[in-house]
Amino acid sequence: MRQKIVAGNWKMNKTFQEGKALTSELVGMINDEVRGNVKVILCVPFPYLDTVRSLVGQSSRISVGAQNCSEHASGAYTGEVAASMLKSIEIPSVIIGHSERRQYFAEAGVLLAKKVDIALANGLTPIYCCGEPLEVRERNEHETLVRKQVEESLFHLSAEAIQQVVIAYEPVWAIGTGKTATAQQAQDMHAVIRQHLAGKYGKTVAETITILYGGSVNAGNANELFACPDVDGGLVGGASLKSREFTDIIKAMKA
Ligand code: PEP
Repeated sequence: MRQKIVAGNWKMNKTFQEGKALTSELVGMINDEVRGNVKVILCVPFPYLDTVRSLVGQSSRISVGAQNCSEHASGAYTGEVAASMLKSIEIPSVIIGHSERRQYFAEAGVLLAKKVDIALANGLTPIYCCGEPLEVRERNEHETLVRKQVEESLFHLSAEAIQQVVIAYEPVWAIGTGKTATAQQAQDMHAVIRQHLAGKYGKTVAETITILYGGSVNAGNANELFACPDVDGGLVGGASLKSREFTDIIKAMKA
C-alpha cells in the first residue's frame, strides 16, 4: 500500500512567532483528531525548520520538510542551503521544483535532476513537483509536458531510488488561484504519471510511488480529490496556514 501524505507548504508566510503558534495548534489538533496511516509534512521556511521540528517532537505522524535546497554540496554559494545542512538538523524531506521556483527562479529539468540527486544522496525524500501552465492545458499538451517534466528530472534514477521520491502534480493554473482541478482531471493526470513510471520502471515499482495533488486544495474539495484511486494525498499551500482547515484536509485522507 502506498504511503498517504498530506504536506503543507507555508511558502514565504508567517513570522517566527506565528509559525510557532500555528505548529503548536496543528500538533494538538492532529494528535487529537487524525487517525489511520496518513503522514503529515510541514514544509516551513528555512529559519523555522529546527524550531518547528522541536515543537513537533517525536511524532510518528508529523515531520518537517524544507521548500528547496541547493544543487551544490557546499561552498561559495551565498544565500543557498545545502541538502547536507538539512540532513544535519534531521529534516527528512524537501520540496523540489515547485512551480514558483520554476517560474520566478528559472529552475527546470537538469538543474532539478541535480537537486533530486543531492537530496537523495543525503537521505532526504524529494517531493518533486510537476504541472502545466494554463496555456499548455488549453493547447491540450498537458500530458506531454508533465511526462517530460517527470522524465527529465527523475528518469535517470534507479528503480530503487525512484521509490524514495514523492511526486506532486500541481497544475500551475490551480496554485493559489482558488481554481481546483476537478477530481477527474487530477485522477487522469495521476494515472498518466503512474503509467509513465510503469513504462520505465515496471508496474510494481510504479504502484509504490506516492503521487500528491496540489492546487487550491481546501476542506471542501479534499474528500473528492483524495477519493481518486491514484491520488495519494495533497500538497497544500494557502489552506495549510490555517490549523482548523489543514486538520480537516488531513482527515479527508482516508488511509
Ligand atoms: C502549493 O503551494 O504547492 C499549492 C498547491 O498552493 P495552494 O494550495 O495555495 O494552491
